Amino acid sequence: MHELSIANSVVELCAERAMGARVLRVTLEIGRLSAVMPDAIRFCFDVCAKDTVVEGAALEIVETPGLARCLDCGGSVDMTDLLEHCACGSVNLELLAGSELKIKQMEVV
Ligand SMILES: [Zn+2]
Repeated sequence: MHELSIANSVVELCAERAMGARVLRVTLEIGRLSAVMPDAIRFCFDVCAKDTVVEGAALEIVETPGLARCLDCGGSVDMTDLLEHCACGSVNLELLAGSELKIKQMEVV
């Protein structure tokens, strides 16, 4: 499962950065086009965090919308999925945001 390995690396990264301190809260930024299910991450996060300093930490997930620039007319396009096209009809798009997945913030004791 895709989400399980992601959750696992998030937990590992947080535990590493916490350097022995207890992690209270983790904020994750997940792009809407990253094909990652926030609910699945939430579930896997709790499983992976068990018996680590991350156990019991609140997981906050911020979903970032997809955004692309049309390479033909220069217009910006809101991306709800990767098959989106520009109002001018072009599918020649440069993805600017929405595929990221990163740890935005972490709170420790
Ligand atoms: Zn266009």
